[in-house]
Amino acid sequence: EIRTRIAPSPTGMMHLGTARTAIYCWAVARHFGGKFLLRIEDTDQVRSTKEAVQVILDGMKWLNLDYDEGPIYQMDRLERYKEVVDQMLADGRAYYCYATPEELDAMREDQKARGLKPRYDGRWRPENCVGKPIPEGVQPVIRFRNPDEGAVTWNDAVYGPITVANSELDDLIIMRNGIPTYNFAVVVDDWDMKVSHVIRGADHINNTPRQINIYNALGAEVPVFAHLPLICGQDGQKLSKRHGTVSVLEYERQGYLPEAIFNYLARLGWGHGNMEKFSRDELAQVFELADCSRAAARIDWKKLEWLNQQYMKEADDARLAELAAPRIEARGGKVEGGPCLKAVCGLLKSRSATLEKLADAALFFYVEPKVDPETAQAALENGGREALKLFGEKLEALADMTPENVYHCIQAVMEEQGISMKVLATPLRVVVCAADRTPQIDVTLCLIGKENVLNRIKAALA
Ligand code: GLU
Repeated sequence: EIRTRIAPSPTGMMHLGTARTAIYCWAVARHFGGKFLLRIEDTDQVRSTKEAVQVILDGMKWLNLDYDEGPIYQMDRLERYKEVVDQMLADGRAYYCYATPEELDAMREDQKARGLKPRYDGRWRPENCVGKPIPEGVQPVIRFRNPDEGAVTWNDAVYGPITVANSELDDLIIMRNGIPTYNFAVVVDDWDMKVSHVIRGADHINNTPRQINIYNALGAEVPVFAHLPLICGQDGQKLSKRHGTVSVLEYERQGYLPEAIFNYLARLGWGHGNMEKFSRDELAQVFELADCSRAAARIDWKKLEWLNQQYMKEADDARLAELAAPRIEARGGKVEGGPCLKAVCGLLKSRSATLEKLADAALFFYVEPKVDPETAQAALENGGREALKLFGEKLEALADMTPENVYHCIQAVMEEQGISMKVLATPLRVVVCAADRTPQIDVTLCLIGKENVLNRIKAALA
């Protein structure tokens, strides 16, 4: 069975890179009809926070990344890690190390002075410390006995074959004060959880040979590894603080639709023919790790906004209304009792790139119009006043206010007065809508409603 997992550490934010990895893990599992797991790697007691866990859970939900198992918390599995460590200690595949931090510092300094790469020298390997007294008051750590000879090779699903000599690796710490380190816990977990494909950021490539040695020591089957190049900013630099360290939920706040972020991130660093806009299911159908790029992915914010606009255009009006309402309220609008928001969203969605922009454009429907007297005065000059007055009369006489009927009223006023559309449309926008820009004026007026429109016209003419 194909089993993938996303294993974020709740120490920072669930940022775009983690979200993209999660999407690929999800896509591989769905592609093969396998399982997708969520594991929270919370063993860093100092840096892990409840808030970060919540952001991960919320982010997964927002992106609609449904997982089949989890969330599994590593801190719930301490006994299991201890059990594996005890077995390794008993078998001589791990050992206690009593070296103090000062001692290790001195060792590294000495190695550097001799032109060597700093590397733990195995001083507490059993054969190296026969007869050596165990220092008092030192809390030992447990180290993995890494092979001395040979090399580790794996065929990375993205980067291809990679080989690292064991002489480059050292005996890494696998447990400290009963808490497993990342490199150890991740192997025990992926082994226990039968993960078949480990998909993660390229920043973990250096950890992989160490982990493979642990798999081998445990007699566990080594999974497929796939490392994903990092995401960088438009300029090719590492993602800036503004973008790189914010949570995916920040994009929700900025008014992006989750399906647009999902689509955009999936396409970032992976491609299939000329597929640019695709659904989750379409991605799952064609996704293959082999199609992931080895080059760092560059974020193109313009393209993201373009894509979001495409999704806005086809989004359901009722859904947009639900998403836009709190944003309009936050701007001081009063949605209840105002024009039907669903209809307003339907009207504005094809010209609003984000929900925030939609809320900006919709706001005038939900606030008392604040007409600037000078602008109103200017709009009423040169025939504006007469046109508005006549329009008001025609509108009042309308039994049924529909966009079509309103349009006919406007046409009639233009003909009778021999004026251009602008002469009437300008005062309508200025005194009725109090907005710089409005969607189609006939539809807009219908949404504002006959009574409101007439009252505003009367007030302007008074
Ligand atoms: N907790 C690790 C991280 O957040 C997981 C890496 C992995 O997938 O193995 O980077």
